[in-house]
Amino acid sequence: MRTEGYRRRPTWEVSIGNVKIGGSNPVAVQSMTSTSTMDTPGSVAQVERIADAGGDIVRLTAQGVREAVNLTDIRDAVRADGYTVPLVADIHFNPKAAFEAAARVEKVRINPGNFVDPGRVFKKINYTPEEYAEEIRKIDTALLPLLDICKEHGTALRIGVNHGSLSDRIMSRYGDTPEGMVESAMEFLRVCLAHDFRDVVISIKASNVVVMTRTVRLMAEAMDAEGMHFPLHLGVTEAGDAEDGRIKSATGIGSLLMDGLGDTIRVSLTENPENEIEPARAILAHIAEVAADPTPVPASEPLDTDAAKSLWDGQVTKVIGLDMDKPAFSIDLTAEGFEEAVSEVKSHPGEAVAVKAANPAGALLVRSFVRRLRGEGLTNPIAVIFNYDGKDAETTAIKASIDLGSLLLEGLADAVAVENSLLSADELVRLSLNILQATRRRITKTEYIACPGCGRTLYDLHTALKEIKAATSHLKGLKIGVMGCIVNGPGEMADADYGYVGAGVGRVSLYKGKECVMKNLPTDEAIPALIELIRRNGDWKDPE
Ligand code: SF4
Repeated sequence: MRTEGYRRRPTWEVSIGNVKIGGSNPVAVQSMTSTSTMDTPGSVAQVERIADAGGDIVRLTAQGVREAVNLTDIRDAVRADGYTVPLVADIHFNPKAAFEAAARVEKVRINPGNFVDPGRVFKKINYTPEEYAEEIRKIDTALLPLLDICKEHGTALRIGVNHGSLSDRIMSRYGDTPEGMVESAMEFLRVCLAHDFRDVVISIKASNVVVMTRTVRLMAEAMDAEGMHFPLHLGVTEAGDAEDGRIKSATGIGSLLMDGLGDTIRVSLTENPENEIEPARAILAHIAEVAADPTPVPASEPLDTDAAKSLWDGQVTKVIGLDMDKPAFSIDLTAEGFEEAVSEVKSHPGEAVAVKAANPAGALLVRSFVRRLRGEGLTNPIAVIFNYDGKDAETTAIKASIDLGSLLLEGLADAVAVENSLLSADELVRLSLNILQATRRRITKTEYIACPGCGRTLYDLHTALKEIKAATSHLKGLKIGVMGCIVNGPGEMADADYGYVGAGVGRVSLYKGKECVMKNLPTDEAIPALIELIRRNGDWKDPE
């Protein structure tokens, strides 16, 4: 029997100051400050809190040359306090800020969607092959000075693509698709390699976990096809806060790490940035257990996930304890009993089966099992059950999100359940529903697409998200974007139905889909105005 288990994708090693990522180095954990980068003491304190919490790398926004230059003061103060944590400048729309930052901090993140192009203007919809090639030459011209500065100072680069902020060139050819996001990064990587610059990390993020995981997998394939082995930074953007934010991040990041993809991660939360470190470490702890599990998992090939539908009703995945009881026919799956279990299912044609696997890499075992059953044409509905007895609520949420998430994203479970004798039945059902929502297998509540905020945020984003949730959490199925700034917010809230987007100091603009419908409202008027907007468009329901 050919077997497989956890195997990390081989990548080139990249140094970010004193932290090495890729290769055989541990997966590094990152966060990002939410202070103004002109506020030196505030930014220093936040960088140090992130480092104290266990963050390996800290990013700060540098929206202009002023902020980029001030990174020197921040860096010097952090170093004077004895912290060696590498700093990263986050750049959008401003190559000059990137040039300044590259001489001051250990890594610079640029967004291919807006580094050369001024942002999406929709002026040019069709490019001839010659015009397209000319656009690519412009990337080379714009990027070369930055690569030279990076080489001189030993600074690494992050090519960071986000769903919703692609250039007009990419949009014209690919649309806002995973393929477009991948090509957007590949264009820049080819230029880097042409100039013999390899200190590059790739991030390719989306707020939709399904889009994010599919795009990262495509990205790895595209790089492999061209002999590139750049390390990957993983994250789910605009994941929101509290349990929802942690579950979305764990399903997206964790399911990719299970397949050995990812060399550095960020759990983006609309909370204080130091709060991001603990869930990130919990995700890595679970992956470490999976990686250490010696169970030989029978090899299997991924299925066509787009075609995967629940075999129970063709649409939504069921939750044991809410929609149904546990099926009577049950299998405790082990590596040794794998073939016998396949035969047992064959002898119960069409009958629903509960599948449990107790070992740390149980999700990999179950995945191989269900792929095998489906590959052999067996249509028994599968209920997947994982038990986390003895674990606390937070750890259970992270572990279940990774284990069930990786199966649900591939459409390999028709019903799910989480078991833990320390948690109530209601808590366990809620956790299952949240994981189903994160993987878009079943929508049972309002979806919030909320960015973590950064130095561009000029209003109280955390309080606004809490208040918007309190007012709208009964609007099942509606997607509401709550974003810190007008520069990146509207594009990156992706497919939100409504948007609440920071427009200036204490000011917010409201969006209906991609259209800005009310500009620069004071924040104390904005939530009632949002509710009125939802009502006017017929999407409002009074709470029951
Ligand atoms: S959308 Fe949010 S995180 Fe992104 S740049 Fe704007 S404020 Fe910062």
